Amino acid sequence: MIIAKNIQKTFHNTQVLKGIDLHIKKGEVVAIVGPSGAGKTTLLQILSTLDKPNNALNSELIINNINPVNLKDKKISEFRNQHIGFVFQFHQLLPEFTAIENICIPAYIGNKKNDTTHKRALELLDFLGIKNKANNKPNQLSGGEQQRVAVARALINQPAIVFADEPSGNLDTESANNLHDLFFELRDKFDQTFVIVTHNEKLADMADRKLTMRDGKIETSVI
Ligand code: ADP
Ligand code: ADP
Repeated sequence: MIIAKNIQKTFHNTQVLKGIDLHIKKGEVVAIVGPSGAGKTTLLQILSTLDKPNNALNSELIINNINPVNLKDKKISEFRNQHIGFVFQFHQLLPEFTAIENICIPAYIGNKKNDTTHKRALELLDFLGIKNKANNKPNQLSGGEQQRVAVARALINQPAIVFADEPSGNLDTESANNLHDLFFELRDKFDQTFVIVTHNEKLADMADRKLTMRDGKIETSVI
């Protein structure tokens, strides 16, 4: 599902990624851990096509059978919208829209049919246990509920890969555990691939694989 070879990234003469090699299979849940500044977010941004490696010529990146590095910006946006979902720590829900509207936005961008999308959004809300909150705006939802809405939004287009950057970082223990269980349920149900940057040790231990990053490199790979 994801093949990365010798991925390097430099910001202002500082090499943040020093040659990353990765192979992630379909349906795998991979946790990326490591100290702050190790390059985790930068790696996630490159794998999720939000950023590009510096060394396009002597590196390789294949996401869901596509090499995104040489795609034009418009094609990359289309590719991302179809194949990739994102969950961020600060979930960036749009405050003026309801939960269900927030969830449907990526589908509308992809010109999907409204009625199918709405039905699927309700199914996702049901699956996440917050169907009764469909018409609430973000400020009428708890942190855990907002995070679930963000997860539903990441899943509305049925992406093959979901990237999450500290998805449970601002959740209480119970909400965090529920969210983690949800990732595994979704993987079991839809065979989706999850790549999750986390400081949560429990989640890292539950994952199929834990990758530890330190100083721009992957240190160990525990199966
Ligand atoms: P982590 O997620 O492991 O904390 P990051 O990938 O966020 O690490 O950052 C790694 C290093 O790269 C940090 O020193 C950070 O300041 C730097 N960095 C990340 N993104 C940028 C950027 N867009 N411009 C300049 N420096 C950046
Ligand atoms: P994390 O919470 O994973 O450590 P950061 O707070 O380091 O993430 O980064 C948040 C965003 O800011 C990312 O998009 C990253 O690329 C960017 N960023 C991080 N460090 C810098 C920096 N020194 N200069 C510019 N952008 C940065």
